Amino acid sequence: MITEAYSKVQARHLKRNAYLYIRQSTLRQVFENTESTQRQYDLQRRALALGWKLDQIVVIDSDLGQSGASAVDRQGFQRLVTEVSLGRAGIVMGLEVSRLARNSTDWHRLLEICALADTLILDEDGVYDPAHFNDRLLLGLKGTMSEAELHVLRSRLRGGILNKARRGELEMRLPIGFVYDAQRCVRLDPDARIQESVRQLFRAFRRTGSATATVKAFREQGLQFPRRLYRGPRKGEVLWAELEHSRVLWVLHHPRYAGAFCFGRSRQRKHLDGRHVFVRLPPEEWTALIRDAHEGYITWEEFEQNVQRLRDNAHAQGADRERGAPREGPALLQGLAVCALCGERMTVRYHVQGGRRVPDYMCQRRGIERAQPVCQQIHGQALDEAIGKLLVETVTPLTLEVALAVQQELENRSEECERLRRQEVEQARYQSDLARRRYMQVDPDNRLVADSLEAEWNEALRTLAQAQERCEKRRQADRAGLDDQQRAGILALARDFPRLWDDPHTSERERKRMARLLIADVTLLKGDDLNAQVRFNGGATHTLHIPLPKPAWMLRQTPPAVVTAINNLLNEHTDGETAEWLNRQGLTSGEGKRFHRAMVARIRTAYAMPSRYERLRARGLLTLAEIAERLDVGPDTVKVWRRAGLLGAHRYNDKGQCLYEPPGPDAPTKFQHQGKTRGRFASLTANTNPLNA
Ligand SMILES: [Zn+2]
Repeated sequence: MITEAYSKVQARHLKRNAYLYIRQSTLRQVFENTESTQRQYDLQRRALALGWKLDQIVVIDSDLGQSGASAVDRQGFQRLVTEVSLGRAGIVMGLEVSRLARNSTDWHRLLEICALADTLILDEDGVYDPAHFNDRLLLGLKGTMSEAELHVLRSRLRGGILNKARRGELEMRLPIGFVYDAQRCVRLDPDARIQESVRQLFRAFRRTGSATATVKAFREQGLQFPRRLYRGPRKGEVLWAELEHSRVLWVLHHPRYAGAFCFGRSRQRKHLDGRHVFVRLPPEEWTALIRDAHEGYITWEEFEQNVQRLRDNAHAQGADRERGAPREGPALLQGLAVCALCGERMTVRYHVQGGRRVPDYMCQRRGIERAQPVCQQIHGQALDEAIGKLLVETVTPLTLEVALAVQQELENRSEECERLRRQEVEQARYQSDLARRRYMQVDPDNRLVADSLEAEWNEALRTLAQAQERCEKRRQADRAGLDDQQRAGILALARDFPRLWDDPHTSERERKRMARLLIADVTLLKGDDLNAQVRFNGGATHTLHIPLPKPAWMLRQTPPAVVTAINNLLNEHTDGETAEWLNRQGLTSGEGKRFHRAMVARIRTAYAMPSRYERLRARGLLTLAEIAERLDVGPDTVKVWRRAGLLGAHRYNDKGQCLYEPPGPDAPTKFQHQGKTRGRFASLTANTNPLNA
């Protein structure tokens, strides 16, 4: 075995580094399982025995404390793969080497790369050359076995848990208000205050029917709600704090309060990026649900009613509460607005104004949690418009030109640095050449001198390699700069930006994305006006002062000038004529509409202005009946005389009804005379004025 190991290790392997990969899955193992860490470091000695020098051994242990289930977030493993694929590794060492990667895919990838890069693998059992078929087969098997082992282990544990859960015997963390007794049975918490608080919560919900109202009731009565600590030095202690909305929802949704045992209410899923997400499952998919498993605070029926009630409440909140809807909405600053009073992110609600959806930015999270009034509510229309204007003004070719100039400056500077680094490499190369020549020239029999010169040469080579590596790394980092094409693209965008922004075909979503690219956040404070602190990505800030929108009643209010005009016009004109006159002057109502007769009448009533009729009556004009009586003729005669111009009259409405000017003191007789000769009505014209006859 030993000889075989030596035969696999060749000079070309020894020239390269040996990588020792150390891994412990959990933080707990890091603390407790120092034994295995020790074993891993023992491998180092094996490498020394095989001919590597101590300074050639690179230890990669940056994944300590990370689980090995995936390579995605394990930098150490990634680094190992990189080093191997760059041909820098002569050998890779690890304890039970197949566990380098717990996941078969990662492992086979590493094997493949090792085979291509001619890298050996070492574990406690021996040395393997992945380029050899036998060794690769063995290593592959080891990987498969280790994955299978992991699977069996996990399923055995999981199976045990599931079986216990199905029987309802699994001991789980109990929600506040329950404890395990000495026989490990679930009991109501003997602490009377805790029990009473839980009961109080259910009572309050029963009474009010809403979670927010329950929080409010607790706050009004100055009550607190218990919470048990499950970790940390004060584990097991009960904390008392203000009841929060999320806690009410949690309690109401927890079947244990109805005396039911449940398991598997949510499922864990893994994302591509290695994150774990919890998905809530509907009750029919739970692993176990056993009703009346123990004492409860409410009945199962009440539990179901409560859940249904909460669901109805959620529906009642309207369309904008639906998941996803706000993201489609027009609110430009969705997710960017920050409340200046409390520092929370503000949420968006929409209301309809003039047929359009208008956003309101609300700081309501704390309000909901503690059942307190909303912290700030800001009308979004003017704000969004101002932000859009600011963006169009800010993103100009000029500003981007400056930004690009700075970028260029940085790139130039990095070129200077690279020149310096290249000089450093040159220097190191010269030194190593010098050392080599000195070594060559020495008499080989002079062992002492030769040895020390060899060490010197080695040192010089190492310095050279390091300098080269540093130089290469920096160059790659600097190369991340912009090329001409990218720069032209950015400038083109700057020129296009205003056009793109104002283009009606640009969707709200695109506009929001553009805003998000440029703006980090906007801090809002409502005072005499709206103060908006815009923080751009990159650190620049800009303060906007936006006048607050007028309240709705003020928006609809008729402008004072129009009211005055109406008051004056009514002296001489009817409501309809007044409306026409106002329209001719281009005046509009508070809502921006054209005037019409009924509108003038409404405004007149609202401002308690006397009507045209009342004005004319105040001037002493008479109604048709009154003047007919005064003149002692029939109403028809009065109308004929008026048409003939014998009587002064003024229309007081748009139906043509009039009030009549009282005739002079001597007139009645003449009118009477004319009035009695009914047969001669037809001959009366404007030209034959009976008053002058
Ligand atoms: Zn706030």
